[in-house]
Formats: sequence, C-alpha cells, structure tokens
Amino acid sequence: MSDEFQATDDGAIGSTTDVAIIIVGTGFSGLGLGTKLARAGERSFLLLERADDVGGTWRDNDYPGAACDVSSHLYSLSFRPNPDWTHVYSPQAEIHEYLRETAREEGLLPHIRFGCEVVGAEWDEVANLWRVSTSRGSFTSRVLVTAAGHLSDPKYPNIPGLDSFEGHLFHSAGWNHDVALENQRIGVIGTGASSIQIIPEVAEVASHLTVFQRSAPYVRPRPNRQYTAAEKRMFRRVPESLQELRAEMFWNNEARLVERQALPALLEAAAAVAHKHREAQVIDPEIREKLKPNFVYGCKRGLRSDDYYPTFNRENVTLECAGIDRVEGKQVIMTSGDVHELDVIIASTGFETTDLPISYIIRGRQGRSLADAWSGGMQAYATLAVSGFPNLFIMGGPNTGLGHNSAIYVIESQIDHILGALQFMAQRPDAVLEVSAEAENSYVEGVESRGEGTVWLSEGCQTWYVDPRNGRLTSLWPDFAHSFRRENAAFVPDPYLAESTTG
Ligand SMILES: Cc1cc2nc3c(=O)[nH]c(=O)nc-3n(C[C@H](O)[C@H](O)[C@H](O)COP(=O)(O)OP(=O)(O)OC[C@H]3O[C@@H](n4cnc5c(N)ncnc54)[C@H](O)[C@@H]3O)c2cc1C
Repeated sequence: MSDEFQATDDGAIGSTTDVAIIIVGTGFSGLGLGTKLARAGERSFLLLERADDVGGTWRDNDYPGAACDVSSHLYSLSFRPNPDWTHVYSPQAEIHEYLRETAREEGLLPHIRFGCEVVGAEWDEVANLWRVSTSRGSFTSRVLVTAAGHLSDPKYPNIPGLDSFEGHLFHSAGWNHDVALENQRIGVIGTGASSIQIIPEVAEVASHLTVFQRSAPYVRPRPNRQYTAAEKRMFRRVPESLQELRAEMFWNNEARLVERQALPALLEAAAAVAHKHREAQVIDPEIREKLKPNFVYGCKRGLRSDDYYPTFNRENVTLECAGIDRVEGKQVIMTSGDVHELDVIIASTGFETTDLPISYIIRGRQGRSLADAWSGGMQAYATLAVSGFPNLFIMGGPNTGLGHNSAIYVIESQIDHILGALQFMAQRPDAVLEVSAEAENSYVEGVESRGEGTVWLSEGCQTWYVDPRNGRLTSLWPDFAHSFRRENAAFVPDPYLAESTTG
C-alpha cells in the first residue's frame, strides 16, 4: 500500500475537530458524496474510515474470484466513467483501484481520516450539532452522513463449536491470505453470491472441498468477456457511446424486475433459464437434483456463473446438504451423523443487513439510539432520514438494496437528496433538518404496500432482504431503480419542516 493511503497523524487525538459535514465510510457511497462535495467547492468535510484504505466492499472482499455481478460500466459512478474496464464484470482489484483513483484524483485524501472507527455519535440538542467519538479522537459537525454500508459487517453462522475450530477459520469478507489453501481439506459454508465465485477457485487448489449448502441458489449463465482495445478506444473518444451502453445495461436490468413481482409466467421463464443451465452443466443426476432450488425464483439475489455448476463434476468436491450440528476439533459433524474432517473453514455466510451495527452507536434526541428507533425494523423517510435524528442522513440503510440493478444508481440518488438538503441548509445557517414522524410513517407505508404480493414476501422465501425479527421487507427497495430515483433523489423541504427548521 502506498503511503498516501496510510493513516495520517493529523487527526483529532486529544482535541475536538469541528467541520460542517462528517461522512462515515469510504466505499462507493462515502467517496461518491465526497467527490460531489469537493467538486462543489465544499472544504469543511471529513470522511472517517475505520480501515486503512478506501474501497469498502471492494477493499474487504478480496477473495479468489471476486468480481461485480452488475456490468462494470453500470457498476461505476456516472460522473466518473471508466473507458478502461477490462471486462463486462471486472474483478475486485480493478474496482478497488477505481475507488482509490477516485479518492486520489478528486482530492479526497486530505479529507479522509483512516484507522478512525466511529464508536459513538450523539446529537447535542443545545448546540445543534453532532458529537462524534472515534478511535482517533472527537469531532463535531452540523451534519452527519453514515455511509457505513449494509454489507460491511460480516456475519458468521451460529454453529456450536465453530469458534473453537482447530483449523483455520475466516469469513469471505475477511480473507486470510496467510493461509495456504493448496492441498488442504477445505469447507465453504454458504452458497450465495460470494460463494459461487469462491467455490470454483478453491476447488482448483484444495485436496478436497466440501460445500455446505442450506439452500440451493438459482444460477444463470454469465455473459462475461474482455473488452477489446478498439472498444476501449471508442469509449474514450466517443463518451456518448459509453453513456448509451450504460443506459442499455440499466434498462435491460430494469426489465428483469417484473420477474420478481410474482408474475407467474415471467417467474417460470426466468427460473427455466437457471434450470437449463444446471441441467446442461451438472453430470450426476443426484447432485443435479440437490442443486435444484426449492424456493421461488427472484426471492434471493439473481446469481450468474459459468463455472459454479461444473465444479460439482469434480472428483475432489462434495456437496453436503444436511444441517451442520456442531464443530469439534477439526471435525464438522452433520445432523445426519456424517463427519467432515477439515483444515480450513470459509464462512461465506453474508452480513449484518437488517440490524445494522452503526444504528447502535448513533443517538438522536433525548439520547435515543437509532437501534431503539428501529427495534420494530429499520425505516426512514426517503430511505435516509429518521424522525428524532436531526441533520442525519443514512446512506445504504433501509430499503436501499436492489436485487436486479446497480447499487450505484441508488447511491447516486441518495447523494442528490443529501446535496439538495445541504444547499437548503447553506441558505439557512441555523436550520435543523428533521423529518416529521408523520412524513416518515406515511412514506414507509407506501413502500411497504409495494412489497405486498412480491416474491420476497411469498411463502417459503427466506431472504436477507426481510427482517427475521418482524417479517418486514426492510432492506430492499421493492420497485424499479428508476422509481427509487424519481421518489427519493429530490430534496423537498416540507417533510423536514419541524419547528426549528426555519431558523
Ligand atoms: C462481495 C460483494 C459483491 C457485490 N457486488 C455488487 C455488484 O456487483 N453490484 C451491486 O450493485 N452491488 C454489489 N454489492 C453491494 C455493495 O455493497 C454495494 O454495491 C456498494 O459497494 C456499497 O458501498 P457503500 O459505500 O455503501 O458501503 P461499503 O462499501 O460497505 O463501505 C462502507 C465503509 O464504511 C466503513 N465503516 C463502517 N462502519 C464504520 C465505523 N463505525 N467507523 C468508520 N468506518 C466505518 C467500512 O469500513 C467501509 O469502508 C456487492 C457486495 C459484496 C459484499
């Protein structure tokens, strides 16, 4: 890592630094907002990052085979197009470098405090500002934006004895590159979006790979390829060609949403593509059957791979579908009584998505925590503002997940909303923006009513989009991405006009 990304010592240790805007996190959301602020000439903002590098998801998920599953030209910031993406679905290192370059070229590095974990943020009702405590000192700001991600805190499975596994154990989002996988007996727990990228790579080097599957995913072909030098030249020389390609990718993805809205004929047609893919690629009929999904198509994120299914034709791969009962020493003991002796366990078991860790450290009016406000499920007006939490904007929080299109589109819509709010506040130096409970509830009712009748809330659909505590569809935006932008990107002052806003 180059020095410019190392933690700097000009932070706030021993003193309190005051800025206009604090942003927590330097993934696509934090860097995207930071870029827009810097370009608008804003100087008084800081990005607080607990790690020692930018990139968020694309810094942490550097497992073998990691790549985006939304096309790169769409899965990038519209205001920082990249004609040089090497592939339709580019690998993790390239996406990470794109984000590092964004931080460098947009002049964000002086605004970033690395190794700076936010451990508390409290609204000061007298001074009308946020008091932010971190591992590197204290800060105050008029506005607080959390861009801490909803797929950034790894979740391990709850398996008795796993913690004391006597081999190596790590999560897909915290890959231990010091562990050599060659000729090892490896287990991968989980068969979601990361697993289907990891499994083919690990199978190549392991002496034996056991895949622990709770529920088989739908996997469709992945039309990946390299861009030619001529294409890249054209993207560079004719920027409109890149914009057209991006638009085409976006609208093709939008068309796929209707599959999720429980239109039976469309669901069946989409599922049939995955079934055909599996049937064409898996030789053993018994394994093929075990790899058949038993939930309705669209309930979970749509997956794409051309090398996942063929992995199960290999001699050194076992598909285990019984539940894991416990781990003892180096043994994984199944509920069936079968035992797998392993050297390495890779937990590819997802993230804390519905009960966000950041919500426990943010306290609004009367010291109430965001986690408390969200005890019945997370919710926000326009997906980013919560009653009782003035001048706080939450990126990547409730109803921001998309199963069918690019997260960056949602992120940019939220950025537009926040910029609108900041412009409004710039005209009114004493204003405090706080959404009313009525506006928040009526907005959330509108979103929830759209979730009804969709695959995500259908019987038998178990998905991280739904909060297991209450069955509410709190993580996902249950509609088109372009509706997200239409409804949420514009800042409208009215819903925020609490008594103190006119200041
Ligand atoms: C493996 C993987 C592949 C994905 N592929 C795609 C894809 O192809 N297409 C797609 O649309 N989406 C994809 N996603 C979703 C992806 O998370 C989003 O697209 C996007 O990267 C989220 O960016 P973010 O900045 O909101 O959050 P993140 O990238 O998660 O960044 C959050 C940042 O906040 C920091 N942070 C968190 N808490 C604190 C704290 N208390 N103090 C200080 N810093 C903190 C973290 O360290 C991190 O750097 C993928 C997710 C994963 C995990």
